[in-house]
Amino acid sequence: MASLYKISIDKLNGIGKKRAELFNKLGIYSIGDLLSFYPKGYEDWSSTVKIESLQDGMNVCIKAVLGAQIKDGVLPGGRIISKGMVYDDTGTLQLVFFNNRYISAMIHAGEEYYFYGRVTGGIGGWQMISPTFSPVGEGSKIHPIYKQTAGLNSKIIANAVKQALSYLPEKVNDPLPESVRSTFALCDLKYAIHNIHFPNNSESLASARKRLVTEELLVLNLGMRSLKEHSRGESGVDITKSYFDEFKELLPFTMTNAQSRVVGECISDLTKGTKPMNRLVQGDVGSGKTAVAAAVCHTVIRNGFQAAFMAPTDILARQHYKTFTELFKGTDIKTALLTGSMKESEKKAVRAELENGDISFVVGTHALITEKTNFYNLGIAVTDEQHRFGVSQRAKLLSKGSNPHLLVMSATPIPRTLGLVIFGDLDISIIDELPPSRKPVKTYAISTLKRKNCYGFIKNEIAQGRQAYIVCPLVEEGELENVASAEEYAAELMLNDFSDISVGIVHGHMKPAEKDEVMKKFADNEISLLVATTVIEVGVDVPNATVMTIENAERFGLSQLHQLRGRVGRGKYDSYCFLISNNRNPETMQRLKVMCSTNDGFKIADEDLKLRGPGDFFGERQHGLPQMAIADFADTKSLELSQKMADFIIFNYKNLYHDDLRLLRAEVDRLFSSNGHNCLN
Ligand code: ADP
Ligand code: MG
Repeated sequence: MASLYKISIDKLNGIGKKRAELFNKLGIYSIGDLLSFYPKGYEDWSSTVKIESLQDGMNVCIKAVLGAQIKDGVLPGGRIISKGMVYDDTGTLQLVFFNNRYISAMIHAGEEYYFYGRVTGGIGGWQMISPTFSPVGEGSKIHPIYKQTAGLNSKIIANAVKQALSYLPEKVNDPLPESVRSTFALCDLKYAIHNIHFPNNSESLASARKRLVTEELLVLNLGMRSLKEHSRGESGVDITKSYFDEFKELLPFTMTNAQSRVVGECISDLTKGTKPMNRLVQGDVGSGKTAVAAAVCHTVIRNGFQAAFMAPTDILARQHYKTFTELFKGTDIKTALLTGSMKESEKKAVRAELENGDISFVVGTHALITEKTNFYNLGIAVTDEQHRFGVSQRAKLLSKGSNPHLLVMSATPIPRTLGLVIFGDLDISIIDELPPSRKPVKTYAISTLKRKNCYGFIKNEIAQGRQAYIVCPLVEEGELENVASAEEYAAELMLNDFSDISVGIVHGHMKPAEKDEVMKKFADNEISLLVATTVIEVGVDVPNATVMTIENAERFGLSQLHQLRGRVGRGKYDSYCFLISNNRNPETMQRLKVMCSTNDGFKIADEDLKLRGPGDFFGERQHGLPQMAIADFADTKSLELSQKMADFIIFNYKNLYHDDLRLLRAEVDRLFSSNGHNCLN
């Protein structure tokens, strides 16, 4: 199988240079790639529907006879239209095809076929437009559907896969050793590949799926384990004394019990004197994770070591920097900022002082993990909003010290089994309490007709000294036309509804210094209304802001809406969130309803998982894990199975260097290297 990754896709009949480029678009370059391009779904032709029982809009399979030969006609504009009637013993239905001059030669009057497609019509007669079909009695009844791209439809891909299958050698070398397959009742690789594409029946499809899914998760599992082995040593940085009491004096508020408990758990890890701390702190938005991290870093620093705090965005890093500088103002702890957007000379100066140990606390973005950054004696690495970082980035930050402690902070609740894979040996602390006097954010879903009322409400809040956010009607960061629309949108607000109010704007395409300036003004209440894109999604903390308005709320996932809403309700004032949408799609309405009914992040995550299905739960690569070809991170059963398999393999073979595991190890390397996680080698 491995060698098939070396045979180019254009070796297949009917695939020339042009078409090969289309395959490339789907990430398919070789025969091996094609064989691992699994169908995204199947059409099940095994249960057919009688014509008399059809309903408008159904996607169905019917078994019917073609009455008379298909007739071609020409539409105005030159498109070819082909029509034919089919019947079963309960009724008739019209087939319609467009621009397919070969269709009349492909199906024949008097013969019986399966036709699969969407039916429309009713009393006036049923129609099926461009159905897929195959003669009754031929082959399997479960047909693969592939992700397609313009010029390359599922059928063409299926045909290419059929050819590619013939390249499989008589005996396919299987990455899963026989002992593993028999212990866990998994079919062999060749059978799995055949049946994932062209299943004999639903049982063989299930067994192929099971085999491929568990293998993929197993590979992920083994990869994660070896990452950990590489990154963690036996004994941590030597912290002897807790300075938590001293830290409490610096805080402008009293910690909640949950915060104190979690700090206690961390400090006890630090002072245990054995393995380095490896801890994940989970807490809903606004639960006060920053103060917890600051307390832990403070103890490490007071013991004579450096602390590094990594945030996913420039805005967030700068905000944290400000918070920490303020907090440590009266102490001799020297704090610094390090982000990619700083001037070279500034970065250089900070790096020099990190290296000679003058700076004891650095807050930054990815700039912290570039090669140029070195520490004098890094004692602890903290990552904020961990779902924004890849596993390997975490490992890189750790590698800047010799066995530093690790603190990972997250607001995203993660299902336990997946947590086991992602975090493995991470201990988990949960901040399950919000600071006192925090009230739930009152949330309303409104249509654009009510937008003016919402603006009126915002003006009223601003008149009382509060501040507000409006998230612009756009989603994709990085699209230039969106920037224009964000700026236009803000301009419109300034000219009309908010002409007497100071309005600021922040989006991903501004220079960091400009963003910083705006955020600073907003934090100082010089700007009352901030029009923003989703750059403010994570972490931004301005307690005086009390209204969050989100345009096109239907475009956001639940967890994202929750994060955005989390920007308000952070202080002592009543806060409000308006979700503007005209979308009446039932799924959208359900989502907005959930938002209006609860402020509990864990409940929302559960609903999100239910509504969107597991595939989308973590968003585009939000988990920092490699992309899966077939496995699904919310498939708890398979995750558990893969966990058991990994244990079995490590128990029986000790490590991955056993010769029986040569192919499996290659799979681990491939999964991690194709995703930019090159640190296995
Ligand atoms: P998150 O968990 O979302 O990162 P932050 O750490 O940003 O939350 O804290 C949210 C806000 O709550 C901040 O303004 C912070 O100063 C404040 N805060 C944190 N802990 C407490 C507390 N125990 N009492 C009062 N305010 C607190
Ligand atoms: Mg935070």
